Amino acid sequence: MSKEIKKLDKNIFELKCSAFKGEGYTLWKLRKNWELITGNIIAEKSEPKNLYMRELTINVHDPVIHHSIVSYSSIIMKKINEFFQGNVVEKVEVRKINRNSRRNILDLSKQEKTGNTLKIIETAEKKNSLQEKELELSNEEKEKIKENIDKIDKKYENFAVRLKEIAENNRKREKYLLSSGFIQCSECGKIFYPGGNEKICFNCYDRKESGKIEAMAKLLTEMPLIGERDAVRRTGTDAYTYYKVRDMLAQRVYSDLFYFCMEKNLQIQGNEEWRDEIRKETIVDFEIYVKNYIDLKIGTDNMEIFSKEKKKLLKKLNNDRRFKK
Ligand SMILES: [Zn+2]
Repeated sequence: MSKEIKKLDKNIFELKCSAFKGEGYTLWKLRKNWELITGNIIAEKSEPKNLYMRELTINVHDPVIHHSIVSYSSIIMKKINEFFQGNVVEKVEVRKINRNSRRNILDLSKQEKTGNTLKIIETAEKKNSLQEKELELSNEEKEKIKENIDKIDKKYENFAVRLKEIAENNRKREKYLLSSGFIQCSECGKIFYPGGNEKICFNCYDRKESGKIEAMAKLLTEMPLIGERDAVRRTGTDAYTYYKVRDMLAQRVYSDLFYFCMEKNLQIQGNEEWRDEIRKETIVDFEIYVKNYIDLKIGTDNMEIFSKEKKKLLKKLNNDRRFKK
C-alpha cells in the first residue's frame, strides 16, 4: 500500500518536474525573443525573470519603463501568447528592481523574506500606488522621468494603438474571409480555404496523416505479411495509407540494398585473396535484404509471386547500377 503511495508520489513529482522543465524552456525562449516581442525600448530595461504555473514575473530596472509595462502588461501577455501560439502566460507580475540604489535592494530582500514581494499587478488602482512609490525616487530619477515621460508615453501609446489596430484588422479580415468561402478548421480554429469538402486545415491534416503513417509503418514492420483489410482495420487508417507506407518502407530497404551491393562489389574488386569468402558472405546478406524488401513491398508467402518480384528487383538493381556508373 505505502509502496503504491510512494510510486504515486514519485509520479506526481516527475509530472511537476516535467511541467517545470517545459516552462523553463518557454522562459529561455522568451528571454531570447524578448526584444522581438516587446520592442527594444522595453527589452533594454526589463527581463522576463521567472515563469511558474503560467505566471510570468518581469523584472524592470527603470521606473519609467515600469509604468509603461504595467499599463500594457495585458498587451505584452497577448503578444507572448501569440508568439508561442498558445496560452503559456495567464498572469503577469511586474517587479521594479532598482539596480543603482542599495536601499531598494535591501528593502526588496527584506520584503521577499517576509513573503511580501513587490508584486505589482495591473489594476485600476495601481496608478495611485505607483505614484506613491515614485515619490521615493531620487531627484535625479525624477528629473529623468520629467525628461522622458512624454516622449516614451507617446511611443507606447502608438504601440498600444497599433496592436489594437492589428487585432481589429485581423478580426475584420477573418470576417471577410469567412464570408468568401474560407472556413475555420475544426481542429485548431485557423481560417483556411478548403479545396474540397475538408473540415480541417492542411497543417492538421498533415499531422493526422503522419500519425496514420506512423501507425501503419509500425504494424507493417512487425507483421509484413498482413493483408490490406486487416492492416486498415487494426490501424484505423485506409487502403491508400497501406500501399503508400508499403512503398515507402520498401524504398528504404531498396536504397540500403543498393549501396550494400555497390560496397561489396568494390570490396570484391579490391580483394583478390578473399574474393570467394566475401562473395559467400554477400550472398547470405543479399538474400536477407531481398526478402525484407519483398515482405515490405507486397508481403507474400506465395513462392511464385515472390520469385517474380525478385526477378523484377534484380533487373531494377542492375539498371540502377549501370546508371550510377
Ligand atoms: Zn487546423
